[in-house]
Amino acid sequence: MSNTETLYTNIRAHIESHYPLLYLVTFEEKQADQLITQLAVEDKRKICEWNLARGVVSFDHKQPLADYRDLASTLEDWLNEDLTNHFLIIKDAHLAMRDNPLVIARLKALANKLLHNSETKATVLLISSQACIPPELEKFITLFDLPLPDEEKIRAVINDLIGRLGETIDAKSLTELTLAFRGLSEHEITQLLYRGFQQDGEINSDDVALVLHEKEQIIKKSGILDMVSSVEKLENIGGLMQLKKWLKQKANILHNLTDARAFGVEDPKGVMIVGMPGCGKSLTAKATASLFKLPLLRLDVGSLMGKYVGESESNMRRALQLAEAVSPCVLWVDELEKAFVGIGSGNAGSEVATRLFGYFLTWMQDKTGAVFVLATANDISALPPELLRKGRFDEIFYVDFPTRDEREGIFAIHLKKRNKNSITIDVKKLAEKTDGFSGADIEAVVKEAIEVAFVDNRTALTTERLITVINNTHPLKIVMKDKVQEYADKFNNLKIKPAS
Ligand code: ATP
Repeated sequence: MSNTETLYTNIRAHIESHYPLLYLVTFEEKQADQLITQLAVEDKRKICEWNLARGVVSFDHKQPLADYRDLASTLEDWLNEDLTNHFLIIKDAHLAMRDNPLVIARLKALANKLLHNSETKATVLLISSQACIPPELEKFITLFDLPLPDEEKIRAVINDLIGRLGETIDAKSLTELTLAFRGLSEHEITQLLYRGFQQDGEINSDDVALVLHEKEQIIKKSGILDMVSSVEKLENIGGLMQLKKWLKQKANILHNLTDARAFGVEDPKGVMIVGMPGCGKSLTAKATASLFKLPLLRLDVGSLMGKYVGESESNMRRALQLAEAVSPCVLWVDELEKAFVGIGSGNAGSEVATRLFGYFLTWMQDKTGAVFVLATANDISALPPELLRKGRFDEIFYVDFPTRDEREGIFAIHLKKRNKNSITIDVKKLAEKTDGFSGADIEAVVKEAIEVAFVDNRTALTTERLITVINNTHPLKIVMKDKVQEYADKFNNLKIKPAS
């Protein structure tokens, strides 16, 4: 059964079981209309539609049927009418409900009316591009996500438009465009095809560039994902030898994926890097994307959190869909712990966190697109144990404060980066003097010493000058002593593989 067929069956079952309010999340009202039409025909239902722009309209041609009335008034009418065998459609539902207590109260009254008069056979269908369910309605509402077009559907959309334009398309272009369009809605696909056609009078694989550009725009607009452009290289990371070796091995697989698969190698899924602040987790994320030669998408976990029921999940769903749409890519989930704080604690946020977590785990398990997930976290005590279990990620690494040898390497990297000679400077001595310094602390020392040398009559940078700065620096390990010890104990207990 296709995604759409499964969804249809599921919605139908809910309607037959007299669920009063169904919430359909879709970027495409047309898709929702098709589904509603099909349901209405089979179930012999009449349809009433309200939308924010025009009030009560004809479902078929969207013309207003009366003077404009807001949703609260329309709901009042519905509460007083005989609704037998009706579908009541509310478009732009999230906008109409937002900060509107009267609408929420009347929807609740309507839900109660339908629940207590099941012979009425009426269902309210809330249609929206975002899942934002006011907490007061949560127990009445069932949420459904309308799927984005799959490859078969995308092909059909392309072929349909090509036919309408009286054009043809070669098989190679059709395949390339189909892959490029993954993650976009039918409407977005059609618009892009028109734009491609307008540009040069044909639709072919040259239009893939247009699609990729559009996806970048969508990602920027989403506010949840960032396209990170970075020039960091693996060579710019001091130490972390085990982690770097592991990443190189995965790069080898990714660059020879077809052969690797034929050989029986599993597709790389992702890695979690946990550990001390300022010790190179973010740096590794950036260097990994360069090593894999893939775009890097950063998921801002904090921005996922919404105030309405379903909003956070909806954001996460969209973010993961977008990541799949630009795949192959590296999806960097920064500060992963923030998404899952409070799971199982029983407080208000915990339910959302638990649902988000469930969704993320299922996605990790089932993901088919070539999305390599790189998650970073400081505080693993906030992470549910299921996530740390092997199998979700290919590996979990623990990044500790750098050892003496590693600090030597990190000093050399940051001096070289700033065109300073790491041969005349005694990096060994610097490393000895910086026990407990993180990579970020070391970088800060180098930067400051260079600045001081410049201001001091542009004198040459010397080991002594660097040591003076070191002596005046309070490394993070000391500043955050208690926290650092707490993390270290946890990492030790969990026996996570060291990155060094
Ligand atoms: P946080 O948990 O606070 O986000 P982080 O572990 O992600 O910290 P980074 O952002 O990667 O730390 O490190 C900050 C900066 O410190 C880096 O941009 C880099 O310049 C320097 N740095 C940290 N670790 C290393 C390292 N191992 N080698 C070279 N530079 C490093």
